[in-house]
Amino acid sequence: MTPQQTTDVLIIGAGPAGTCAALRLLALGHKVALAESAAFPRPQIGESLSPGIRNIFDYLEASHLLSQRNYLHQLNAHVIWDTTAVQTVSAAQRGPGIMVDRGLLDQDLLALAVERGLQLYQPARFESCLQTDTGWQSQLRQETRLIIINSRFILDARGRRGNNMQDRVLTAPPAVAIWGHLPAHLMPGDTHIEATEKGWIWGSPTFDGQFRTITFLDPKELKGNTVPVAFNNVLSNTRLFEAVRNHEINDLQTCTVFTYAHTSPWQDNYLRLGEAAFSLDPLSSTGVEKAMRFSLQAVIAVNTILKTGQTGLAQSFYEDNMIASVSSHTHWTSNYYAQAWPGQEHAFWRDRSVPYIGQPDTSTTFYNRLKGKFAAPKEKGPDRQINVQQELQRLWHEQVRLSPALIFRETPCVVDDILQLRTAIQHPNLEREIAYLEAVEISPLLSLPGNVTTFGDVIQEWSRLLPFEQAVRIAFFLWDKDILCTEAP
Ligand SMILES: Cc1cc2nc3c(=O)[nH]c(=O)nc-3n(C[C@H](O)[C@H](O)[C@H](O)COP(=O)(O)OP(=O)(O)OC[C@H]3O[C@@H](n4cnc5c(N)ncnc54)[C@H](O)[C@@H]3O)c2cc1C
Repeated sequence: MTPQQTTDVLIIGAGPAGTCAALRLLALGHKVALAESAAFPRPQIGESLSPGIRNIFDYLEASHLLSQRNYLHQLNAHVIWDTTAVQTVSAAQRGPGIMVDRGLLDQDLLALAVERGLQLYQPARFESCLQTDTGWQSQLRQETRLIIINSRFILDARGRRGNNMQDRVLTAPPAVAIWGHLPAHLMPGDTHIEATEKGWIWGSPTFDGQFRTITFLDPKELKGNTVPVAFNNVLSNTRLFEAVRNHEINDLQTCTVFTYAHTSPWQDNYLRLGEAAFSLDPLSSTGVEKAMRFSLQAVIAVNTILKTGQTGLAQSFYEDNMIASVSSHTHWTSNYYAQAWPGQEHAFWRDRSVPYIGQPDTSTTFYNRLKGKFAAPKEKGPDRQINVQQELQRLWHEQVRLSPALIFRETPCVVDDILQLRTAIQHPNLEREIAYLEAVEISPLLSLPGNVTTFGDVIQEWSRLLPFEQAVRIAFFLWDKDILCTEAP
């Protein structure tokens, strides 16, 4: 007979997105099963982790996994990007990124989740699922054996190979990645990043004493060229990699890099995580961090439904966060490509220097909302320098009023790992709506009583609830954004 199991959540895939979700759901007291098709450790690209990863590992109580192996923590970087001159950025300036072995790190994270109560099926392939009255019934295959899992939720974290291309929309022009190892003894023990006319190249020592390099090119560069020729065309025009220009590399591998977003990432308590939901341009080396961060947000949504049944609130929180992640990253990367020295006359750089979103086979509500965020963001003026002491004296007796452009809107906020509706403020001068400033709920502060008419009154009124300095900081933040307006500019 086919074995059956019932669980709150079935996760598919034990990359960082799937395991991060598993660890957090277990910490919140839910029953979790995970199916991973590969035996671990398996090779995995994406070993340069951005500094923000440390907070996430701390939060998961997993930070020991970043220090228990000899991962590389303090790498300086030599960069040729906005000019042809070499800039050296010290490890302290770059922030504490890490070069890891993804195969080992993913294996360690998964072992930790098992220790904390995860029901693991590995190697076991997720094959299909059917919707039931209570959730989902999934079929896993473990060698010749079939296993049936009943769950309220499926979290699909199968990575970039997990979905059909027709369910995704491209959010950058495709690129080709070619990677291999250069002789480590010929390269300094630092990270190297260089923009060339045809694309860009990254290299870094790895923790096992090798030197890994990846080039990113337009797919056209492979037309009529073999992979080694396309790779050498880039390498031979670099300065940072001069010492290895003529070196033959025997282990080159290649893949097409699609940067995309799923067009219906949440359907009936079937949620996509990590690269099953969206992928990012590798330029920022934040794929793993963003995948894990989004899993933490998805877990809040799942936890809210399991504990309060509020599906609509949970789904809009999940979708808003995915839209914000994809659109802010796309604007950041296009800006960064636009700064590279080869400039607009080279197709690779021209095509990537404006935010890009393709047209999916079928438009969905989610896609239309995402597309709306691809309009050029409002130009930000230079930040005002405020001398708080002087300005406080000057503004103290000035009459204040709230900006007519201010809008109050109910929005989901996370309170003790559950979503609750709070009133947030929206204003053209705010990059996004906000409900809290310095952990203080902002909308109650803005319902000013009738006798509060001057800037000084506002601060005195708020000082009954907050420390005086904090009331001043919040008042100046809102004044600087022209939300709290005075007659004096
Ligand atoms: C060329 C390139 C360079 C990159 N460089 C970086 C970098 O330097 N830094 C960085 O942070 N990110 C980088 N990334 C991105 C990074 O690799 C991804 O963000 C990250 O791996 C996504 O994690 P994930 O958990 O979503 O998916 P994955 O890590 O791909 O994990 C998915 C898991 O699902 C399993 N699976 C698939 N199908 C099934 C199934 N049917 N049943 C069960 N299990 C299944 C797979 O075996 C796999 O273990 C790079 C990406 C590319 C393409």
